[in-house]
Amino acid sequence: MSTVLITQANGGDHMSPPGHPERGDRLVVLDELFAKPRFAHLTKKTAQPVELDVALAAHSEAILEAIRDKRPIEGIARIEADTFISAKSLEVVATGLGGALEALDMVMSGEVENGFCAIRPPGHHAERDWPMGFCLINTIAVTAQIARQKYGVERVAIVDFDVHHGNGTENIFRTDRDVFYGSTHQMPLYPGTGAASETGVGNIVNVPLAPHSDGEAMREAFVEGILPALNEFSPDLLLVSAGFDADFRDPMAHLNWTARDFSWVTGKLMDVAERQCNNRLVSMLEGGYDLNGLSAGVAAHLRMLMDGTSENE
Ligand SMILES: [Zn+2]
Repeated sequence: MSTVLITQANGGDHMSPPGHPERGDRLVVLDELFAKPRFAHLTKKTAQPVELDVALAAHSEAILEAIRDKRPIEGIARIEADTFISAKSLEVVATGLGGALEALDMVMSGEVENGFCAIRPPGHHAERDWPMGFCLINTIAVTAQIARQKYGVERVAIVDFDVHHGNGTENIFRTDRDVFYGSTHQMPLYPGTGAASETGVGNIVNVPLAPHSDGEAMREAFVEGILPALNEFSPDLLLVSAGFDADFRDPMAHLNWTARDFSWVTGKLMDVAERQCNNRLVSMLEGGYDLNGLSAGVAAHLRMLMDGTSENE
């Protein structure tokens, strides 16, 4: 495999209040991980900003007006509930998006087969019109739309193994037959959406997982639910909302996945990408709030992406 790793130098400039789980340290621990010898031979790129208006590919003007209006001159402002914005957040969001689009460019040109973007803030809760759940814009949804507009990709699949349901991604694509959205997530849990009955126009597969369930339940959900539907959809590009908050240590939820589970699901998604779309896969960081769990999960995910092996082997 050839893999690009996108990192974000300004990730820490998006500030959250003390004690907030979605914090700059998340990328600091990942930068320490990426400096280890086993990741030395990866192609690495530092994300560069794009114009924020690029987000209009998946969003209305309302969401950009909201975050521009709420952005404080200094300090931190609240957008809603636990979603905050700070003076430099717009630049951070534009840079994370730029990183995702660079990975897309490299995968679509064939320069690499897959890519992982260690970017923040996460995006999958941001709906077409409004930010929510730590997410200011929906980076993966914008990436899917740019893939269609720029490269003429006909069928894009988004698979989301973050422990929370990606209500924003579902909201944006729920009537779009050419975008598949498949998600495993703990239920009940924030944001409360993601019932198995939410099927869009036949393009959405939600498999809720019971609190305190482990990786076996996740594997069953993929083998019996998401993977057959994904293969049947036959994507031309596979995007992954890679959240690591299903880790057993995570403080935001109660699933019990281990690094082996993140390796396994990554391998299964790569199998689909190999069979359906010439290995084209772009993964981007969503949640993951226990720093040890985040680091272990990303290590497992990235090892599988780059050389098809499990971190534990
Ligand atoms: Zn999450």
